[in-house]
Amino acid sequence: MLDAFLKEQLADLDRKNLRRSLRCVDGAQDRTIVMGGKAYLNFCSNNYLGLAADPRLKEAAVSALTRSGFGSGASRLVCGTLSEHRELEERLAAFKGTESCLIFNCGYMANVGIISSLFGRGDLILCDRLNHASILDGIVLSRASFRRYPHRDMQALERLLQRSGGCKKKVIITESVFSMDGDVAPLDEIIRLAREYGVVVMVDDAHGTGVLGEKGKGAAEHFNCSQDVDIQMGTLSKALGSFGAYCCGSKCLMDFLINKARSFVYTTALPPAVAAASLKALDILETEPERRKTLWKNTRFVLESLQNLGFDTMHSRTPIIPVLIKEEERALTFSRRLFEQGILVSAIRPPTVPARTARLRLTVTARHSQEDCECLIQKMQKIGRDLCLI
Ligand code: PMP
Repeated sequence: MLDAFLKEQLADLDRKNLRRSLRCVDGAQDRTIVMGGKAYLNFCSNNYLGLAADPRLKEAAVSALTRSGFGSGASRLVCGTLSEHRELEERLAAFKGTESCLIFNCGYMANVGIISSLFGRGDLILCDRLNHASILDGIVLSRASFRRYPHRDMQALERLLQRSGGCKKKVIITESVFSMDGDVAPLDEIIRLAREYGVVVMVDDAHGTGVLGEKGKGAAEHFNCSQDVDIQMGTLSKALGSFGAYCCGSKCLMDFLINKARSFVYTTALPPAVAAASLKALDILETEPERRKTLWKNTRFVLESLQNLGFDTMHSRTPIIPVLIKEEERALTFSRRLFEQGILVSAIRPPTVPARTARLRLTVTARHSQEDCECLIQKMQKIGRDLCLI
């Protein structure tokens, strides 16, 4: 009976071109990726600095494995904090310029745990309309009231703030670099409003960490406002090529989360080898700034070339480059045609993005060569013309 019900729902997704499925990859996530025995140029990962398959991360993980084993045994509150966890937290707090840090097992768990523990009934959460699903899920779990403002619209945010009297705690939550649009939140404006209205600020820097800022420290460095963001959350799985997430802020905030964030309390700690790989990634991030330079050079080239060809890249200014197509079917066809020609780029459809904004989501990395980028542009041009997009 259950299967019959599910099959009906899956058929409905099929009819709407919204069904998703998994593809198997052989080997590592890198500049190219192997599927079904064939290599594809990989233009869709979040591996911005190309560290996911870096031999030094592997070595760091292997020596942590030898030293500390693989599993971490239990929740940190039960079995204790391993030296790799402690070191990673100290390192991240120093990197972000905050008093303290707490690591979570992934970004999804960090957002759900942070938001649902800090805010509750009687509180008000103001949230950019395009914020990530994990932020929304945290909000729903929190039971706080919430209002969404149109994407990056500061006038609308201010209007909501003007009408926000009577709530206990208030918080503005935004991504720094928006994961499906590649544009950047006006954090300076958000902080100005937060100060004026006495509101807490939380930033999800998943796609800014390692990418934004002179030294790759993320959005707070880019806007020079580290001390003004109360809750800096980010992931270790994107530019840092590892896995896990962090929350940086005051010592008091971390003490609270250790006690109250259910996705921290009730889960087994991150394996030590994973934390060791993140530590190595931070070393590389700090000592090899040329990676970021190449990333931005590739970003500029791909973004400008696509715009010159007449593609709609929305308001992207970062290595996340959407190509707006609107119709789901055409986005899928575009992605499939690229795949047939050896290039992996995903079609992103609702509910990940709003209705009628299906798109290709291209991401460039520091591992791509100029020839890789030129090859991508050439294929985009040919297929874009065939599909009457340019
Ligand atoms: N926040 C944002 C903005 C993201 O894009 C993602 C992942 N795509 C997450 C949180 C979740 O991070 P993780 O993959 O580590 O669970």
